[in-house]
Amino acid sequence: MNRRDLLKTAACLSVLPASVRAQAPAFKRVRPGEPGWPTEAKWQELNKAVGGQLTAVRSPLEACKGADAATCDAIFKQFKNPYFIRDNVALTQTTGWAEAWTSQPSAYAVDARNSADVAAAVNFARENKLRLAVRGGGHSYQGTSNAPDSLLIRTRPMDSIEMHDAFVAKGCSDAPLPAVSLGSGNIWLKAYAAVTKTGRYVQGGGCCTVGVAGLIQSGGFGSFSKNFGMAAASLLEAEIVTADGEIRIANNCTNRDLFWALKGGGGGSFGVVTRITLKTHPLPNFLGGAFGNIKASSPEAYKRLIAQFMAFYRDKLFNPNWGESVRFRRDNVLDIEMVFQGLDMATAQATWKPFIDWVSASPNDYAWTTPLMAIAAPAHFFWDAAFLKQNIPTAIRSDDRPGAPADAIYWAGNVGEAGWYLHNYESAWLPQSLIDSANQAKLVDALYEASRKWSLQLHFNKGLAGAPPEAIAAARDTATNPAVLDAFALAIVSASGAPAFAGIAGHEPDLAKAKIEAAAVSASLAEVTKLAPDNGAYVSESSYFQKGWQSAYWGSNYGRLRVVKQKYDPDGLFFVHNGVGSDDWSPDGFTRRA
Ligand SMILES: Cc1cc2nc3c(=O)[nH]c(=O)nc-3n(C[C@H](O)[C@H](O)[C@H](O)COP(=O)(O)OP(=O)(O)OC[C@H]3O[C@@H](n4cnc5c(N)ncnc54)[C@H](O)[C@@H]3O)c2cc1C
Repeated sequence: MNRRDLLKTAACLSVLPASVRAQAPAFKRVRPGEPGWPTEAKWQELNKAVGGQLTAVRSPLEACKGADAATCDAIFKQFKNPYFIRDNVALTQTTGWAEAWTSQPSAYAVDARNSADVAAAVNFARENKLRLAVRGGGHSYQGTSNAPDSLLIRTRPMDSIEMHDAFVAKGCSDAPLPAVSLGSGNIWLKAYAAVTKTGRYVQGGGCCTVGVAGLIQSGGFGSFSKNFGMAAASLLEAEIVTADGEIRIANNCTNRDLFWALKGGGGGSFGVVTRITLKTHPLPNFLGGAFGNIKASSPEAYKRLIAQFMAFYRDKLFNPNWGESVRFRRDNVLDIEMVFQGLDMATAQATWKPFIDWVSASPNDYAWTTPLMAIAAPAHFFWDAAFLKQNIPTAIRSDDRPGAPADAIYWAGNVGEAGWYLHNYESAWLPQSLIDSANQAKLVDALYEASRKWSLQLHFNKGLAGAPPEAIAAARDTATNPAVLDAFALAIVSASGAPAFAGIAGHEPDLAKAKIEAAAVSASLAEVTKLAPDNGAYVSESSYFQKGWQSAYWGSNYGRLRVVKQKYDPDGLFFVHNGVGSDDWSPDGFTRRA
């Protein structure tokens, strides 16, 4: 039996996690003010070791204390600018989640310039029994990149981008591949803009400001994943600092087990990734989108609309050309926000014609609140800030602070998520058998019933059924729940409020409303999960309270991930909520259970 088979066998032994747990003694990390918390002199030693990159973290919200309402309101207004949040070491892109977590600053933060800075911070945290937090783009819904009383490592300064014509991973003798190396402080907008300029494409996430390493460790889906596959499946190599402070290379030939775990095993659990190298793909000629909104005049007409759309999706859009999402709303509106690659505009428009004709043939039942528009652009313009500003200014927003770089843009569609306070967020993969005509009626019933409780979205690009076989094969070699391979879509239901913090007058979360909405979200998703129980959820877009999260996120891969965790981080230095191995720890990650 080779090592790989051995690991797979271990993964199947459900006793493994328990036995790992049984060996670990109880352990407590220290908080500020407690015995063992590093002295000022020790912090200064760390500061010296990281070239002055250590800061004592102060929240900008401290200005709200005792300030007039207008001063505080001005800070909160900035929460709608993801670049403002990104620039502030005390803040995260989600401000909190009702009854779950509130974004809180760390005690200290290191803005790491390179892997040596990261190693110094990792060693300092381990030696001083500190709670360590790691932040890339700060987009965790589950609050996994902030922790009060912790030392934070931010990867932000590591923003190099290097294109390769012929990359071979270290220690491998595979055929060279076109690739891009990204410092882990990059966000996807920068990566897309740089790579598409060279006539290549890299598969990342949909949102411009998501961090590259956080997304890869999530598995990661972008608008065009129905063709190019999961983002993690394109990973060729990572540089990572593990809990022992070693700077390691992980690829298919070196630290292979760790390499596999980084592909979807969840961020913040295995070490601090400092650089990733991803395979690039030929850039399609055109990328585009099809957007529109239809309102039905009655619930019955709405149900017929759902049926018509799902049949249309199955026949015309269930293929590598089409991705992104639709939303079934409680007010009998269908929102269409689809994207396409590899088609020209005329072909995309022709694809939608039968559906448009069907809707338009029943003016008493349906009205286009926004007529469907399919537009395309040469692919190299898709993330080009100057082009977007000039040609489709309504699709984007810009960092509006004085002196902000001209290319600091983000999709208008993501404004709602900037700074939001979550009431609930749940997801579930839906198997492709549900779109067979034999199952169509029950799927339509479920979608309709779900929409009565709360608006539900189908993200077609976050399920790989319908993708090319090579994209599915590559995803099979990731840690993500294998349910993704056969899913035609990820169903997502969410509810949120404006940016909020407890204790700040005028900006408190509305917990009563959150409770009602959280229940409605769960009820909505339950209508579709009835058809496919226990089919898994996407680790980075799922409930903070996810039941059976180990199997929901990773399915049969969880045991194997525990083995990797035990090997590279036996003492649990890296802890995140519902991350691999977190089941050994108290919810705040400060106390390991005996
Ligand atoms: C507005 C928005 C849009 C999104 N859109 C998409 C989408 O289109 N597709 C998709 O798949 N997901 C999407 N997500 C989910 C997103 O991919 C994940 O939340 C991802 O983990 C965020 O990475 P980050 O670096 O931005 O966040 P962070 O909060 O900084 O990090 C997320 C997790 O990864 C860890 N981490 C970050 N960097 C490193 C590193 N260098 N080394 C080790 N651990 C690290 C953190 O500790 C944390 O646990 C979206 C989220 C938001 C808020």
